[in-house]
Amino acid sequence: MKFFIETIGCQMNVNDSDKITDYLLISGLEQTNDMPEADLVILNTCSVRFSAEHKAYSFLGRIGEQKEKNPNLIVGIVGCMAQYAHKEIKRRCKFVDFVLGAKEIDKFADAVSKFINTEYVISAKRQVGVFQYVTIMRGCQNFCSYCIVPYVRGPEISIGVDEILNEITGYAEQGVKEIILLGQNVNSYNYHGTNLTELSQKVSKIDGIKRIRFMTNHPKDFSDDLIDEIAVNDKICKHIHLPLQSASEAVLSRMNRKYTYENYKLLIDKIRNKIPKINITSDIIIGFPGETDKDFQNTLKASKDLKFGGLFIFKYSPRPNTKAYKFQDNVLLGTKKERHSILLDQSMDISKKLNEQYINRTEEVLVDAYVDGVCESRNSQNIKIFFNSDNNMTGQIVNVKINKAFANSMFGDMCEY
Ligand code: SF4
Repeated sequence: MKFFIETIGCQMNVNDSDKITDYLLISGLEQTNDMPEADLVILNTCSVRFSAEHKAYSFLGRIGEQKEKNPNLIVGIVGCMAQYAHKEIKRRCKFVDFVLGAKEIDKFADAVSKFINTEYVISAKRQVGVFQYVTIMRGCQNFCSYCIVPYVRGPEISIGVDEILNEITGYAEQGVKEIILLGQNVNSYNYHGTNLTELSQKVSKIDGIKRIRFMTNHPKDFSDDLIDEIAVNDKICKHIHLPLQSASEAVLSRMNRKYTYENYKLLIDKIRNKIPKINITSDIIIGFPGETDKDFQNTLKASKDLKFGGLFIFKYSPRPNTKAYKFQDNVLLGTKKERHSILLDQSMDISKKLNEQYINRTEEVLVDAYVDGVCESRNSQNIKIFFNSDNNMTGQIVNVKINKAFANSMFGDMCEY
């Protein structure tokens, strides 16, 4: 039997899809990238934005056409939208065989075994890459007013330390070099008293693991002991993605982010004092209900003052069943687009200037891929660095002298080694 899996959404979904893929491979199924060849189709869905739901329904339309051609096709829908719109999916797409929400993903084996024989186990393995996401916690209970995650994924649950370490050891044995510890708010990881700092120390002792990153951080829970650990632990990368969302106190309060801009700024100062080489990137939401021009100017100024190495900028769109859905979405789309473009231009300028400081410096990079004689790599600060090479250096750590810098990437020459 062959299976096809399509994933929409964040890295948590990518990681869940990896687990489903691993399970189906060891159960004797073969993976295909061609949906018409498949006997089983899995769609992993997202509900954070309307566009993700729209994409899921449009993909479901394609699966429906496939089921008409092949009535024996088994169709499973999983993930956040499956949690939140379970009934709606079943009503609109009668051809779907099973629907499994994000909270129940660990029941995938039971759900699929009703339709296919998964009794025998073979040793097939998913091909892993240089880096691998590892989910260390599920769910969130912060209830940011714009976010649907706490409703679809439920409250935080930290995964057991041994389970995480065993999973990472398995990846290290297969050649994975970099681990990204994943959760909606990794800073509140706590499994029977083991926090993220202690977990990172344990991960850094695993043979073969050269780099550790975390995603996503929450400013209100970023602890001093974690800052100290990042500063002294060579395996923990010097890059922190720390979503700010807005620099207006009024907007932050309506977002229910539970920190003030002043707290955020102090945290950044503390991090930069202890880890001078750190690259801090962030998320901003533009046009949240009630965002005035002055609020936006504050965010624009803060993004400049705080010298973010990169920004992910989102235009606010209301999500049903969130608190912010009741607020009036009163910033016009044209204004959102204009603010988005002003902030993006500024952010690209800042990133380019920061990256230009690397010119003539030698950076230690981990090579992720090799295409047409060019190695694609990243330094500890997570900046993409390209260099020419006659050899495929994927998975290796090498030194590269930087000679060109742009907003999103740099170019250089590999040093003799
Ligand atoms: S921290 Fe806020 S934005 Fe992030 S998942 Fe939780 S509720 Fe959503």
